[in-house]
Amino acid sequence: MRRSLIAANWKMNLTFDDALSFVSSFKEFKFDTKKIDVLIAPPFPYLSDLGKALKKINKKIILSAQNIHFESSGAYTGEVSAEMLKSIGINWTIIGHSERRQYFGDTDIIVNKKVKKALENGLNVILCVGEQLPEREAGIEKELVISQLGMALYGVESDNISRIVIAYEPVWAIGTGKTARSSDAEEMHRSIREYIRSKYGRKIANNVRIIYGGSVKPDNISDLMSMPNIDGALVGGASLKFESFAKIISY
Ligand code: 13P
Repeated sequence: MRRSLIAANWKMNLTFDDALSFVSSFKEFKFDTKKIDVLIAPPFPYLSDLGKALKKINKKIILSAQNIHFESSGAYTGEVSAEMLKSIGINWTIIGHSERRQYFGDTDIIVNKKVKKALENGLNVILCVGEQLPEREAGIEKELVISQLGMALYGVESDNISRIVIAYEPVWAIGTGKTARSSDAEEMHRSIREYIRSKYGRKIANNVRIIYGGSVKPDNISDLMSMPNIDGALVGGASLKFESFAKIISY
């Protein structure tokens, strides 16, 4: 049985005080740590201090970066490497978020380099894929998503797939209030699992977690989570307030 993963992607939001008060709220809030993994991806500058705070509040909550660079070190002003994250005790990163692809030039080739660099350094990865609206309207969303996935995983060995969570985030559903119908999301998740099966075999495909992102809210999470191939959620806007994120965790 796959464990659920409910992940908060704060993107470029919240002050440090907001962030600290958010994680402090976990002192009074309990969730079923046997069944659910909870992950928070704050902006880079908060990772270290939030890590220290969470050690006292709830050691089970995972902290993740939102991105890494594909090189280990060097003249890359403004960038952060997988090695740096490891050195402050961070073991997870998001890679290939559509906002990175759209605004920061993260191509499929760059996403692949980042995935490999993360894995080389022992990081776990939330790998994001998803089609844009014109691609869905043209009926080519599955081909598009499977091709993104194929390129992101190019050269990735089967031993490493257990450290990857795939996040299906249709771009037209991000920050728009338009959630994919749970049946449409389920269909895409099934295709993604089938692709993993064809590439890595049944056992790995059965174990890989595929989470959904795009306008996930307290009132649509249980419908999404009732689908057999939806193993969790990557939440943007609704993860910025503790109360709504807590409701999503308690789906
Ligand atoms: P929203 O939940 O704000 O639509 O964002 C989804 C997302 O991009 C999470 O990574």
